[in-house]
Amino acid sequence: MTSLKKLVAGNWKMHGLSSDLAEIRTIAEQARGYPQVDVALCVPSILIERAARAVPGFAIGGQDVHYAEKGAHTGCTSALMLLDAGAVLTIVGHSERRDAQRESDAEVKAKAESGLLVGLNVILCVGESLDLRECGKAVESVTGQLDRSLPGNLHGEAELAIAYEPIWAIGTGKIPTTGQIAEMHAAIRARLRECYGADGARVRVLYGGSVKASNAGEVFSITDVDGALVGGASLMAGDFIPIVAAAGAVEGAASIA
Ligand code: PEP
Repeated sequence: MTSLKKLVAGNWKMHGLSSDLAEIRTIAEQARGYPQVDVALCVPSILIERAARAVPGFAIGGQDVHYAEKGAHTGCTSALMLLDAGAVLTIVGHSERRDAQRESDAEVKAKAESGLLVGLNVILCVGESLDLRECGKAVESVTGQLDRSLPGNLHGEAELAIAYEPIWAIGTGKIPTTGQIAEMHAAIRARLRECYGADGARVRVLYGGSVKASNAGEVFSITDVDGALVGGASLMAGDFIPIVAAAGAVEGAASIA
């Protein structure tokens, strides 16, 4: 089986001011040294246009998108608005939004579909709580989330990626064992094949949750891990680029083999 090109995407969450554009420039410049890896930064919506102008050709994304094309949705951002601002991708269904904004799987599915429809690449997040992990229901709960939130079909050029992000690993420094990651990614990959047939094989499955330079190499070497969604360690080039380099090293090894 041929491996998919790795994607390392940073999620800046609610971080980023004009004064941080210099860091985004540094990240984009240094990422150019790893053409074997796709690299992206998902920044606050208000920073997207300035970030995209600061780093032409580098992938800037949003962190959420509304499911409606336009209308009476105060404070929300449509997929076309993201594109118009210069974004090429967006995250949907991050657990922080599922929790704080009470986003349902059905809403996440509609958001993913609205992004793909206009040509935005979409990273759809799923992941289990600690309770579900501890009672042995992690795989069942994540595949259930997927069944309810995967977009109906994959059409056009825009790409879907899935980010498996155990809630208990986000921002905590805790990370599942390689066996737990491998088991979950294999289950997600199987669901993607069932849902999309041959097209499911080109959907990248990212791992997210406390990825940093010291564990990235091990994470990227796990079968079916096609990249990472990185929170805290994406804010500074000094933390983020070593993660990109780790993805590049695995990618290089894969193409030599
Ligand atoms: C995230 O919020 O998507 C994330 C993976 O965060 P962190 O890397 O900080 O755990």
